[in-house]
Amino acid sequence: ERRTLARLRDVPAITRDGVRLLLQANIELPSEVDSVLAAGAEGIGLFRSEFLYMNRDDLPDEDEQYQVMRTVVERMDGRPVTIRTLDVGGDKLAHSLGIIPGPNPALGLRAVRLSLARPELLDIQMSAILRASVHGPVRILVPMVATIDEVSAVRAARDRAAQRLRQAGSPLPDPLPPLGVMIEIPGAALSADSLAGHADFFSIGTNDLTQYTLAIDRADEAVAHLYNPLHPAVLRLIQFTAEAANRARIPVGVCGEVAGDPRYAGLLLGLGIHDLSMSATNIPVVKKRIRTLDHIQSRGFAQQVMGQGDPVRIGQLLEQFNRDA
Ligand code: PEP
Ligand code: MG
Repeated sequence: ERRTLARLRDVPAITRDGVRLLLQANIELPSEVDSVLAAGAEGIGLFRSEFLYMNRDDLPDEDEQYQVMRTVVERMDGRPVTIRTLDVGGDKLAHSLGIIPGPNPALGLRAVRLSLARPELLDIQMSAILRASVHGPVRILVPMVATIDEVSAVRAARDRAAQRLRQAGSPLPDPLPPLGVMIEIPGAALSADSLAGHADFFSIGTNDLTQYTLAIDRADEAVAHLYNPLHPAVLRLIQFTAEAANRARIPVGVCGEVAGDPRYAGLLLGLGIHDLSMSATNIPVVKKRIRTLDHIQSRGFAQQVMGQGDPVRIGQLLEQFNRDA
């Protein structure tokens, strides 16, 4: 079994009828790059930059962030690295960032809202990311976007950072790294058709999308049994987002936990997702599953699922689809 998985590293994630999927890795720390490469990831689909800020009292400056990002980009050796800007706030890291947590941290000053409220944080990150992008393909990903305004403001911050670096004589790639939007707020998913005109790519964060759609705190044990990405509301948001992106011809991926679960691969493919980012350890099993799938059949299966309103029934259909494999 272990040998089969090792062999899988060098074969493509392709369905039986020849549809190619992109499998990338999620990382939190640069030390994970070894396992990312060992798993055969085609890139890093989500580098959670907030981990640079954790377990310390001070804040990482531009140079420190640049050095870490550059190391990751260089070690990925030409494979794309998607760096997400700071996704903290509310209760997380409130101390070192000097934030007073609001009454509902999950709905408060967090992620891109914090980056825009504290432009010095965003400027530092943009400069570090742009400098790292000289060493290999980099994409910028913005967490918790709800509106077009936020995307435009972050794009302006990227362009200002580029201007500063150019004036200082630093080399920069041309074009600048693309700017992608995380779709993880239901309102963002429902306006994915509008957002698609302002984003270079989408990455669907199913962890938060499920949390906010079902009003289930993803970290609360007491309601964990109610947390279900197979709820038709969540699936409709994924489908609407995928269709909007495909129509606008921008790439769309999924980087939440479901991306790393082989049981979801056929459903996501059938909903129009060809790009999955997950913990490196899950890449072999997901790839193995994809190589048994048929794209046309997956589309039919997704259609069948989308005709169902009962999450329990959807769970049964999924189980059956995977058993038949
Ligand atoms: C998500 O919300 O699905 C996601 C990938 O981001 P995080 O888990 O870091 O919130
Ligand atoms: Mg999230």
